[in-house]
Amino acid sequence: MASNTPLSFDTFFNVIDGKLSTTESTRCSINPSTLKNNPEVPVSTIADVEEAVQAARKAAESWSQVPWEDRRKAVEGFATALEIQQDDFANMLTKEQGKPFPRAQLEIKTGIQWLRDFCQLSIPETVIEDNDSRRISTRYTPLGVVVAITAWNYPVQPLALSKIAPALLTGNALILKPSPFTPYCNLKLAELGLRFFPPGILQALSGDDNLGPWMTEHPGIDKISFTGSIATGKKVMESCSKTLKRVTLELGGNDPAIVCADVDLAAIPTITGIAFENAGQICCGIKRLYVHESVYDTVMATVLAVLPHLKFGDGFVDGVFIPPITNKQQFERVQELLADAERAQLKVVAGSTKPMPGAGETGGYFIAPTVIDNPPDDSKIVTEEQFGPILPILKWTDEDDVIRRANDTQYGLGASIWTQDMARAERMAGRMQAGTVWINSHVEIGATYPFGGHKNSGIGSEWGVEGMKAYCNLQTVLSRSSPWDGKT
Ligand code: NAD
Repeated sequence: MASNTPLSFDTFFNVIDGKLSTTESTRCSINPSTLKNNPEVPVSTIADVEEAVQAARKAAESWSQVPWEDRRKAVEGFATALEIQQDDFANMLTKEQGKPFPRAQLEIKTGIQWLRDFCQLSIPETVIEDNDSRRISTRYTPLGVVVAITAWNYPVQPLALSKIAPALLTGNALILKPSPFTPYCNLKLAELGLRFFPPGILQALSGDDNLGPWMTEHPGIDKISFTGSIATGKKVMESCSKTLKRVTLELGGNDPAIVCADVDLAAIPTITGIAFENAGQICCGIKRLYVHESVYDTVMATVLAVLPHLKFGDGFVDGVFIPPITNKQQFERVQELLADAERAQLKVVAGSTKPMPGAGETGGYFIAPTVIDNPPDDSKIVTEEQFGPILPILKWTDEDDVIRRANDTQYGLGASIWTQDMARAERMAGRMQAGTVWINSHVEIGATYPFGGHKNSGIGSEWGVEGMKAYCNLQTVLSRSSPWDGKT
């Protein structure tokens, strides 16, 4: 099945039932750095959804019977093929999402590594009782047909690849439904998958705003693995409830990072980089930086000294670190937050509350990296997820109080504590209301350990063995070698 012919990145197709197809009507997204059109992609119809679901149902039945080892080999082959064309994928990723080409290369490279890391995981059977009369065990069986509905900030990795590997390894069929803003690499991933997986096992549909709801409503789909905003996550869950579909929701975050008085100051440039990575468009990026008053001025000075080195611009220009905002909708949202900061007369110590001249009109969706000095806790820039290159830095004095402030939010995705006192770090980390707590780190994620949100940041988790189990039904097997007498 495997072929070494390179995929072409000039034309883009849906992948349905082992074939490439297009649609009568097509659309395109925009390169956020140049505002030029990217290539045309299909706008799937409800008939396309129907065909993909039927193909997936049929394929999932036989795929579930393929030994794990053979499914693993198929995923490994897919990883190797992706590695061969990694730069073509990275090139397209920069055009559709905007991130600097070296960061796009890193996204693909990391994705390949994660595919391989997932291949090392397994879900062994658990034996609960095993004696002369009976054996009781639990095992995990595939759900059937899974749809991945995803956001636009990291479309390849983790959003697509870290759903593909666990879903397929555990014996499911997966349909990718990428964001309309970033469909290109996802369509090509499914096209590449045709060389390694039977028809219907890995499919992709691109489309407009109708496509997601058609899928969440469809009775032939067993699970939606959703990554996106809290508002859409609620709609997805409501829609899925009608068919009792399983859902995993990976939603927005507004992660606090708490910098203690004894922080290793060498960490501050790293913290700054994390906050502005991908122009702040990271679900678990640092979005509120709480700094102890004794080091506040030093930390602020360091952040401001680092910022000019974080060049922003077109992702294909050498040395660029901060890309544009990926789409107009988000660009306008970030501008609204900046306008609010201006109305509230917050202290802007770097950047500006105005977009770059011509941004979104004659040039890309560029917003200069902006730092706000000690805004009130109830300002929008603190209470809302910015998803843009804006960092509020807030002062704290008392440990209990800063933990209360950090936790005082509907979000609960990630949080971090930066200190050299490990006992203190453990104590503080234990009180953070977040799915992941990092100590002297942030945003460090991996295929082998789970990730998910507390509170409104999500339901369930992905990755690691726990994440794999989320693509499965739990099945209990009670077995007797001779019939039960109905008594003991
Ligand atoms: P979004 O919720 O607008 O869209 C996400 C996806 O849902 C898209 O594919 C979209 O087409 C689809 N969709 C929209 N309406 C739908 C509906 N009614 N039914 C079904 N599908 C529908 O989010 P976005 O703007 O693409 O992404 C940004 C958000 O994603 C941020 O809040 C960010 O924090 C979050 N995010 C979370 C994680 C995580 O792992 N927790 C990772 C990345 C991004």
